[in-house]
Amino acid sequence: MNAYSSSAAQAVDYSARQLQDHLRQALPALENRRQVAPLKQFESIDAVVAELKPSEPIFCIAPQKIRDAAAGFLSFPGRALYAVKCNPHPVVLETLYGAGVTDFDVASLDEVRLIDSLFGAAGGKFFNNPAKTRPAIQAASQQYGIRFYTADCVEEIDKIVEETGDTSDLIIAVRLATRGNEARYVLSTKFGAQPDEAVRLLQHLNGRGIKAGISFHVGSQCLRPRAFHDAVELAGKVAANADVELRVLNVGGGFPAPYPGDDVAGHEHYFGQIARAVRSIGLPRSCIVLCEPGRALVATSGTTVVQVVMRRGQNLFLNDGVFGTLQELGHPKERRPVRLIRNGNRAPANGMDFKIWGPTCDSNDVLGAPFQLPGDVREGDWIEIGMMGAYSLSMRTHFNGFFADQIVQIGA
Ligand SMILES: *Cc1c(COP(=O)(O)O)cnc(C)c1O
Repeated sequence: MNAYSSSAAQAVDYSARQLQDHLRQALPALENRRQVAPLKQFESIDAVVAELKPSEPIFCIAPQKIRDAAAGFLSFPGRALYAVKCNPHPVVLETLYGAGVTDFDVASLDEVRLIDSLFGAAGGKFFNNPAKTRPAIQAASQQYGIRFYTADCVEEIDKIVEETGDTSDLIIAVRLATRGNEARYVLSTKFGAQPDEAVRLLQHLNGRGIKAGISFHVGSQCLRPRAFHDAVELAGKVAANADVELRVLNVGGGFPAPYPGDDVAGHEHYFGQIARAVRSIGLPRSCIVLCEPGRALVATSGTTVVQVVMRRGQNLFLNDGVFGTLQELGHPKERRPVRLIRNGNRAPANGMDFKIWGPTCDSNDVLGAPFQLPGDVREGDWIEIGMMGAYSLSMRTHFNGFFADQIVQIGA
């Protein structure tokens, strides 16, 4: 008989206070907190174009959209962290923090430093990359006081234990590979232990006296709420088979953004599936439920404003592309709301499909889906590409000498 075989649905300590205490204990005072440099602020995208007439791509951040998205996660049955890789701009992080998302999923020492420079020890840090270097673990543990890690094999668990030294308040989550997927981007082929292996890893942790958890990621832009239910159930089975009491259940990210063409259920359906599954596996009271969305918190807050460099028939060549902020749009299923902003006054024309190319000399610098735009689009016009807040700024490269680095703010 263990905590999981009890059929009585126990109340879970959703408040995660314990975790907060755990994270906040005995860490250095907030020193040298970095002030975020304010961005130039505009009332609207049209105001940006009217004032700047930009010939370089402009990335616009609307903090209010971030606050709205963060408010949506207040009804998550547990605690929401933010996956920093999705958009690490300091204004984004600061806005999330102000909106109550004060814990962060970090994958590298640079992300650790970024969060620490902004929020000090008050910014919770979860080092969830299942493959970390020894110096990164050492610094994370000794300089930044991180006690929460993720692993998907014995070797990494042992490495974490060796490099962190003291295991007394360490929590290690076993990353579990999830099955079947209706997500656009699968995140279980690189990382994640199969269930039988996960059982062994939990027992390994338990044997070493380390607090154990389970984490998973059902894949990014997951369009099926039930996927979370199935993954939580699988986690419950793994924990029951291991006969190990979970301290943390981290259901990852994957909550979708409402992109055009995607049939997206409201996040409350996802939360409902998670809450139901958490009850059905009878998590122990002391287990903390976490999620770590990226996309769902920031997608709607970003807009890329591009200019048409050249039109050749039905081909438009823009000043930003897949090596810039439009990386995700290389995928044929990725669609975003687009709007033409004419350079000069012309009567509106009927819409038609245009093939969209980026500015570099690489033939791969092309978007996977056409843009529908008025047929009179021409060189010098601007295009507003909405819902670009996720995996855009963080994916830019300097390839071919192009780097989209003008960032402004829309609204307060
Ligand atoms: C990328 C990532 C996330 C965020 O995923 P979204 O699909 O953007 O919500 C969360 N957790 C981990 C471990 C990740 O790698």
